[in-house]
Amino acid sequence: MRTIVWYRGKDLRLSDHPPLRRALLEGEVLPLFILDPRFVARDRVEHHTHRIQFLLDSLGELADGLAKRGSKLLVQRGDPLELVPELLERWSADRIVAHRRVEPGGRKVDRSLRARLGERFELFEGETLLAPGQLRTSQGDPYRVFTPFSRAFMERCEIGLPLPTPQRLPAIPAAISRDSLGLPSCAQLGLDPNPAILSGGERAGRERLRRFTRGPAMRYARDRDRMDKLGTSRLSADLKFGTVSVRQVWTSIQAAQAEATALDPFCRQLLWREFTHNLLWEFPRLLAEPFRPQFRGFPWSADSELLSTWQEGRTGYPIVDAAMRQLRVEGFMHNRARMITASFLTKHLLIDYRLGEAHFMRYLTDGDPAQNNAGWQWSAGCGCDAQPYFRVFNPITQGRKFDPDGAYVRRYLPELARVPTRYIHAPWTADPGALATAGLQLGRSFPYPIVEHRTARERFLAVASQYLRA
Ligand SMILES: Cc1cc2nc3c(=O)[nH]c(=O)nc-3n(C[C@H](O)[C@H](O)[C@H](O)COP(=O)(O)OP(=O)(O)OC[C@H]3O[C@@H](n4cnc5c(N)ncnc54)[C@H](O)[C@@H]3O)c2cc1C
Repeated sequence: MRTIVWYRGKDLRLSDHPPLRRALLEGEVLPLFILDPRFVARDRVEHHTHRIQFLLDSLGELADGLAKRGSKLLVQRGDPLELVPELLERWSADRIVAHRRVEPGGRKVDRSLRARLGERFELFEGETLLAPGQLRTSQGDPYRVFTPFSRAFMERCEIGLPLPTPQRLPAIPAAISRDSLGLPSCAQLGLDPNPAILSGGERAGRERLRRFTRGPAMRYARDRDRMDKLGTSRLSADLKFGTVSVRQVWTSIQAAQAEATALDPFCRQLLWREFTHNLLWEFPRLLAEPFRPQFRGFPWSADSELLSTWQEGRTGYPIVDAAMRQLRVEGFMHNRARMITASFLTKHLLIDYRLGEAHFMRYLTDGDPAQNNAGWQWSAGCGCDAQPYFRVFNPITQGRKFDPDGAYVRRYLPELARVPTRYIHAPWTADPGALATAGLQLGRSFPYPIVEHRTARERFLAVASQYLRA
């Protein structure tokens, strides 16, 4: 049997890879990656630089790993819907195997290929711990609330051990090996690599997992919300691109958990990931509209000036601005900071959550439709099991609580570096002498707040309660 193993960008590893494993058990293996011209078009690359950089890093390492084991990553360019059936014929392959995709675009491709190829196209689970759509209530309905979902998960699901890394792979026939393009470099795609982005690839991902389980994991319950500390795993891009499988993370954590119950909240976050993927599977419309019908047609603003003030980190609220600059510089933002900035955009500025969602997708290395959409809908109050709309984060008290010494703010806003800690989250409250000593000129080196917290909160509540009651 000759099988094409189709790497689709969310499973870029050799270990714990069920399609690869199955193909290997049955004979010849042709590992394939398809560069879809729509995804590497210049305007798209410009809008996804961080993810493309991580992707190319990860593909490069995957190609090396395959070569070391006697195989090769075969690279083709084209529309998968046309190319996959064509390659099956051209390479005389019996079938093609891949991981299932959750987002609506990927599912559409899967349906079309399945209709055309029947059983020659086989899908495997692995992006999530549990096949999407598998866990439902006793009435057969999708779960809409996280806590019962996670309870049912813990009661009903058994997670197996990850599959090992194959040591050797069958050689690729010479004619097929010649029928392959090289992987593009960042430069060829017109991309200037950003040194602040995490390195991609299975090795770096496994190292992040190892470092986390030996260190920060033990303090996760205490430190996970602290923006000034390295208290979380930083595995989100690995999970997004599959350089580490979620099953590998889950089992490593379960093993470490024998010693530390502090890890319970971490498993809970992995279950949030499951929940968000499950939601998008059950309700594909979520990428286009709010989960709660009451929010359809909500009078969000699309004020482009306010939007760019937020995007560029010039709101005058240090915790918001530091987070927005972290996003641009590092392609990452701490979870607490994501919640604060999303709340600020939608509630303080009343701007449509979809504009914030798109901005995050532009810069986040871990940008994932299921998780990002759920995070935004949760923050705006319109999502499934979302934070109630009337809860509006106060950016000053959030800053004081989760960045108590202002270290996070100072890291990303050097202009505030010398502001005394008691004013760091609200510099406009400092007396002019303290600001002068800190070298800060409000309105020049750092802006005054663009909105006053209490006024903005009241305005949002007035608009929302009137609209949602109507
Ligand atoms: C507005 C908003 C947008 C978000 N967009 C994304 C996104 O595009 N991609 C993304 O991976 N996460 C997103 N999140 C969730 C969360 O912020 C990140 O997963 C987390 O900050 C990544 O850091 P970490 O790997 O160190 O997390 P850890 O705290 O170490 O968590 C471990 C893993 O659990 C998962 N996870 C953690 N929190 C959540 C959550 N609230 N929802 C779903 N999964 C979670 C992630 O895969 C993460 O890597 C978003 C949250 C919000 C509020």
